[in-house]
Amino acid sequence: MDAFFLEVVPTWQPVLLAAVFGAMWGSFANVVIVRWPLGLSVVRPGSHCTACKQPIRFYDNVPIISYFLLKGKCRHCGTRFSFRYVLVEISMALLSVAVLQMTLLSNPPGFLFGLTEYFIWFAFIWALFTAGAIDLETFLLPDAITLPGIGVGLLVNIFVLKNGWIDPLTGAAGSYAVLSLLFVHGYKLLTGKNGMGEGDPKFLAMIGAFLGVRGAGFSLFAGAFQGLLIGSLLVLYRRKNPGQPDLEISDGDDATEVDSRFRKARVPFGPFLALGAIEYFFFGDYLIQQYTAAVAYLIGAV
Ligand SMILES: [Zn+2]
Repeated sequence: MDAFFLEVVPTWQPVLLAAVFGAMWGSFANVVIVRWPLGLSVVRPGSHCTACKQPIRFYDNVPIISYFLLKGKCRHCGTRFSFRYVLVEISMALLSVAVLQMTLLSNPPGFLFGLTEYFIWFAFIWALFTAGAIDLETFLLPDAITLPGIGVGLLVNIFVLKNGWIDPLTGAAGSYAVLSLLFVHGYKLLTGKNGMGEGDPKFLAMIGAFLGVRGAGFSLFAGAFQGLLIGSLLVLYRRKNPGQPDLEISDGDDATEVDSRFRKARVPFGPFLALGAIEYFFFGDYLIQQYTAAVAYLIGAV
């Protein structure tokens, strides 16, 4: 941060602003996550209780705070609101502060540049989080987020962050090519079934447009590894609790092709790609360093 800025403004003030800004965008993420899959406008009508249809007044719609003041219930009819809403708002507030720490508060070349970096990376994290959450619920990754995301990622890397065009373009195009060839078409060729969803290549392309080749590669491997880990735990859990369908990790749209009795419960891949990308943004260099050191150690031991 500019020395001038540091002298004038105590750090807690930008941190508080970033938390409030993050919580507000978390609140908007909730609206998008609920309404997008239903094909509803994310702007109109304003927030209302889904049970009694009463509009929620602005003073009852303050992110995080209102939930606790109203004890998680509608003021009019007392219906419980899911804790998920406040969890999304708290997560976005924390992520926003973490992005601020990585940008404006970590000695950027200038105040304006640091602030610009903050908005760019917060928008990226918001898009990852929102699209990942929608995929978790619906097995769909909205083009409305991924396609503009690819364009914005390329443009800011080339014209704002001055990272050149080769790395982000290779990251985006390579991601799309690898995922759609290997997973979408390759899987279909081998098994005759749809494997991964058509949305995953576009989602990883967005990640590549922002994070370049290294970031996209990390997100793919970290995402696949963690997805398999969680998926395996779920399979073990279901084995111990029979009567539940088996689990497989895929993101296909083959639900209609298979009799529902034989349909396997599925885990979407998008949330894990989003998780991998968020991990890379905050800890990528450290994790890659640790991983490389561990591999070098193992090779040395053999
Ligand atoms: Zn109500």
